[in-house]
Amino acid sequence: MSAKFSFQRLASCNQTKARAGIFFTPHGPVETPRFMPVGTLANVKTLTPAQLQDTGAQMILCNTYHLHLQPGEAIVAGGGGLHKFMGWNAPVLTDSGGFQVFSLSEMRKISEEGVTFRSPHDGQIINLTPERSIEIQSILGADVIMAFDECPPYPASREQVEAATQRTYRWLERCIVAHQCREQALFGIVQGGVHLDLRSAAAIALTKLDLPGYAIGGVSVGEPPELVAKIVQATAPLLPPEKPRYLMGIGTFREMAIAIASGVDLFDCVIPTRWARHGTAMVLSERWNLKNAKFREDFTPLDETCPCYTCQNFSRAYLSHLVRSQEILAYTLLSIHNITELIRFTQRIRKAILENRFSTEFAKWLTPENAECPVDKDLELIED
Ligand SMILES: [Zn+2]
Repeated sequence: MSAKFSFQRLASCNQTKARAGIFFTPHGPVETPRFMPVGTLANVKTLTPAQLQDTGAQMILCNTYHLHLQPGEAIVAGGGGLHKFMGWNAPVLTDSGGFQVFSLSEMRKISEEGVTFRSPHDGQIINLTPERSIEIQSILGADVIMAFDECPPYPASREQVEAATQRTYRWLERCIVAHQCREQALFGIVQGGVHLDLRSAAAIALTKLDLPGYAIGGVSVGEPPELVAKIVQATAPLLPPEKPRYLMGIGTFREMAIAIASGVDLFDCVIPTRWARHGTAMVLSERWNLKNAKFREDFTPLDETCPCYTCQNFSRAYLSHLVRSQEILAYTLLSIHNITELIRFTQRIRKAILENRFSTEFAKWLTPENAECPVDKDLELIED
């Protein structure tokens, strides 16, 4: 690992594989386990950097695919790189663009060289290769950058998944050659779909490359949560214990708790801000639709135990009014609360690991019979 990056393990749970640590980056430390908010287009939607900092956010994630299309990495570099451009003087991670290319773009063609697709903005043909992804991420200037990978869809045939996993490995080797910037840590991504043997083989092969960190990717693409848990349980313990482990795209309470018990350190997910923009508050494991009539005259805070600006200053009734009126402030206040709630959950788990009470205090999150978290019955399903 470059001298600018290191991972220090502070404590390990004696009942599970959970660990608490600190990941040091050039822009500051990240205390793990930790939830990372998503700032797709170099902003966490509706929040200023100061508001974001108050949620307890340490490292945040930005998307290479989206930033490449708009405004383009040259403009970000012209603005001094991601940190200065977006006013966030703390750790930043960029994904490689692989996931978005495979899940969002139309008319894509995959070859050994890379992926060709049409820009949804102007129809222009864009080539993304492992070398190009690393170059774009180098210009964007995040602390942690991700290898360009092929994320197979779910469901897919075993042959398809196996081919994608092997190609991901070959692309990783090309990413390592292309990666020159010592200010950035390149993480490899374990693929393998729902096939535990492919996952294990990929994890073991990647480990030999001695990267500064490892991610488990290609989960949360439509497979049932039990399968995600099985994948994580089978894969995370095979990754080097002295390196940080990041589970991509996961950010529900139960999934994070199970993954932490398997030895995962970092998480990201768009749900706290996406749900906020749908008028939904996350209050521990529950989701509350603030449009619900029961909140109209409820003058208590969302969560009396929450230290966030929203809970300290506003009532459910006020938030319900803002949501019903489609006031932009509603989305800001709910994003502040939802992000704080998820980060606080990982902070509470971290403290419990440090004090050796994780497996008892969080037992209800780790057992299959509690697979269904209580959900507000009146909430209509949010699909996107
Ligand atoms: Zn709150």
